[in-house]
Amino acid sequence: PPPAMAEAAMAARVPPDEEGDECLPQYRHLLSPDLLAGQVAFITGGGSGIGFRIAEIFMRHGCRTVIASRNLQRVTEASKKLVAATGQQCLALSIDVRQPQTIVAAVDEALKEFKRIDILINGAAGNFLCPASALSFNAFKTVIDIDTLGTFNTSKVLFEKYFRDHGGVIVNITATLSYRGQALQVHAGAAKAAIDAMTRHLAVEWGPNNIRVNSLAPGPILGTEGFRRLGGKLAEKSQQFSVIPLQRAGNKTEIAHSTLYLASPLSSYVTGTTLVVDGGSWLTSPNSFSALLGIASSSAK
Ligand code: NAP
Repeated sequence: PPPAMAEAAMAARVPPDEEGDECLPQYRHLLSPDLLAGQVAFITGGGSGIGFRIAEIFMRHGCRTVIASRNLQRVTEASKKLVAATGQQCLALSIDVRQPQTIVAAVDEALKEFKRIDILINGAAGNFLCPASALSFNAFKTVIDIDTLGTFNTSKVLFEKYFRDHGGVIVNITATLSYRGQALQVHAGAAKAAIDAMTRHLAVEWGPNNIRVNSLAPGPILGTEGFRRLGGKLAEKSQQFSVIPLQRAGNKTEIAHSTLYLASPLSSYVTGTTLVVDGGSWLTSPNSFSALLGIASSSAK
């Protein structure tokens, strides 16, 4: 084929990923390496899984990052890897998104260090498989606390401390669980559906402040805690991938690329929407209570 076509074919390929929380050994830019130059992103849950890869891909596009979660050792180790792989700055901070004062302290620290924050990624979340009948009142509440209230708390602190006066971009990482009432997921499905609603409310209220707010809903993503706990065993058992239109699970690099789109000026007129990044999965995936029950007990923590 002519060289231009060969280029196009290469660009359509699935980008490589690493199974664990390690940086990519090689990276081929599909977009300009200075797409986010001079910007700063605050990423909750940035020490592991999808959040870690989002931090890496943003840094490979010129962005400095703050990665924040409860386990300071985890984010500190992650930040060392990210700095070594990308040469960008990364500040690791401890927060619990359920406790607004810890968010306030972290955002103050981040602003002291970088003088600006342009992007907020709300990635912190907790999940496990459990039938509603076995779910304790407290377990349901905990997931709502971390996912839904945590996303509101962090967005509100960022708004008050910086976005109200300077504008900004918020990307909330949600899920497709509620679209078809996924079995054993009433807690996470309800929590993420509420975040998708929040995305629309805040997009409307904060649009005049030049703040864009969108959700990104991943499907089953390889190399994540979420996948290991929730999907891995089921996928093995039921050959789940064959019912996904794209015939495979996604990877963290693919989620990071779609998040990069939503966080960058490429999506400058996009707000209040949910970008589903799931290979068409939610349209066709099985939703069998009995098939899922077998792995529920082993995944609950
Ligand atoms: P993960 O590695 O477990 O990421 C969750 C992160 O949230 C962890 O880094 C954790 O760090 C942090 N966190 C949990 N509770 C927190 C709290 N109270 N305060 C601050 N940080 C907290 O899982 P993942 O699979 O990559 O998931 C990342 C996001 O993608 C989540 O929003 C998840 O719901 C979503 N998602 C994932 C999939 C998938 O297939 N993996 C599918 C759909 C949606 P600490 O323990 O240090 O706090």
